[in-house]
Amino acid sequence: MTATSSVTVRLVSGDEVTIPAALLNGDGDSEPRFVGMSVDGYVVVEAYGMRYGVTACCGASAKGSMTGDDEPVIVCRACYAEVDEMLGAPMDVPAENRWQPDEDPIDPESLGLVLDAAIVEVERRRTVAAELRAAGLTDRADRWQAQASRLAEAIGNLRQIG
Ligand SMILES: [Zn+2]
Repeated sequence: MTATSSVTVRLVSGDEVTIPAALLNGDGDSEPRFVGMSVDGYVVVEAYGMRYGVTACCGASAKGSMTGDDEPVIVCRACYAEVDEMLGAPMDVPAENRWQPDEDPIDPESLGLVLDAAIVEVERRRTVAAELRAAGLTDRADRWQAQASRLAEAIGNLRQIG
């Protein structure tokens, strides 16, 4: 196994841990993704709908094997060193030991839906403002108009993100 680069991350508790960098980029499905640290100090990942600890030697999953004396043991899937049998079972992470990732990037599709709804709202407020103005309620019309303008400006800022 080639040497992997490591990265230091901060948990919810504020503690910092150093883990294989590849575990941050996994999709959490076919590629393991870092979840946090178990109460016993193991790096826990999520993949294939399960959470399990990875070996300290290789950052790999563990698997069952047999010794020369036919004793069942748990070994590192990468280097076959015998490891803690706890690594052979699912493992979870207490809330304070979770990794707090950066916020997910905004999904362009959901941003588009938000913008569409906001544009409708701008039009509604402009319509209300025009009706109020026609009814001679100038102050209220100005407030609705100002709200529409602020919302339109916010939409313009969001468009730059999308
Ligand atoms: Zn190993």
